[in-house]
Amino acid sequence: MKKDWKTKLIHPDAHAPEGFRSLAMPTYRGSTVLFPKAATVQDTWDQHAVGYTYGLYGTPTTLELAAQICSLEGGYRTFITPGGQAAISLINLAFLKSGDHVLVPESIYTPNRKFAVEVLRRFGVEISFYLPTIGSGIVSHFRPNTRMVWCESPGSITMEVQDVPAIVAAAHKAGALVVLDNTWSAGVYFNAFAHGVDVTMQALTKYIGGHSDILLGSITVRDEEAYKQLGSTHQLVGCAASPDDCSLALRGLKSLAIRLKTVEGSALELARWLAKRPEIETVLHPALPSCPGHEFWKRDFTGSSGLFSIVFRREFGKAQVHAFVDALELFEIGYSWAGVASLAVAYDFQSVKNRPEYGSRIVRLNIGLEDVQDLTGDLEQALERMRSR
Ligand SMILES: *Cc1c(COP(=O)(O)O)cnc(C)c1O
Repeated sequence: MKKDWKTKLIHPDAHAPEGFRSLAMPTYRGSTVLFPKAATVQDTWDQHAVGYTYGLYGTPTTLELAAQICSLEGGYRTFITPGGQAAISLINLAFLKSGDHVLVPESIYTPNRKFAVEVLRRFGVEISFYLPTIGSGIVSHFRPNTRMVWCESPGSITMEVQDVPAIVAAAHKAGALVVLDNTWSAGVYFNAFAHGVDVTMQALTKYIGGHSDILLGSITVRDEEAYKQLGSTHQLVGCAASPDDCSLALRGLKSLAIRLKTVEGSALELARWLAKRPEIETVLHPALPSCPGHEFWKRDFTGSSGLFSIVFRREFGKAQVHAFVDALELFEIGYSWAGVASLAVAYDFQSVKNRPEYGSRIVRLNIGLEDVQDLTGDLEQALERMRSR
């Protein structure tokens, strides 16, 4: 067919040579997916079953990331979401209905708690909170309508390691699903499916991305039933992830092992150093006996990552704790974690119910890839400056 130049812009005749082979997964962008024939057009979300149908359900780049996360966690299938929080809300929307009851640990990531209290309750779902250290004592919290139990191990900020197998045993006896936020372990150091968990999620924003420059999440399921239930909700909520961000996460995966190894070593060294300091009451690092649930970390985990918290002694007030954080020169102040830069954030538990009495003396540290001697020096000078206030 003879083409006008304007038509050629859309349907070009000239192309680059074929046959390029690279180590990098190409970034496939696309909303429209082309079908060979009118009769083959369909809008099914399950691209594993029917091939590609629409960009919302994934392109080769997003599904490659999903496949690699799934293989890392040893699940059946993985969905990629626009962030960790999107993974949390999607799990709730996919598995719950009005009249169901959900158990949530007090130590859960705050936006997860808020979704339960502010959204799920509005849709008629009952929520109750349990102490993260409850273990098999969770049995007494089940109701006839308990559909799901959330776990997060270790918990956000306060770092309690949960007895996940005991909670799984109780939940399965009661016919409830167990969902785990497995972000801290990067899906690597805690094998959730081997410990009986039904559904996991991760903020890929954290260790998988690893460079504080993308937002992505994942949901991994144990079996086909959960896959089907999540898939249709994923489609209807319209939870698509950007292939560009997925390509950055695929790049992040390649260096995950060495980043984890380095931050594990540095975090352990700093945690032990801090534990000996006179200003510190306790160090909440799962690999240290001072962390609640340390025995479950020892039993169930194969390593530790770079995020832990410290609690100052009672004589140090909020102003001094803030002075410590402000005096840090290498540690920056900011939310999110698991990037290459070390971070420090002070938290205030003074007016929170059912939480340990850490008041405003708790600081969470994310250990990055800086030299560990430099980080020690930075903590030391900040402690000295705090004391001289
Ligand atoms: C950051 C985080 C999330 C949410 O991830 P986003 O990608 O920031 O939405 C969920 N759970 C935990 C434990 C987190 O630390």
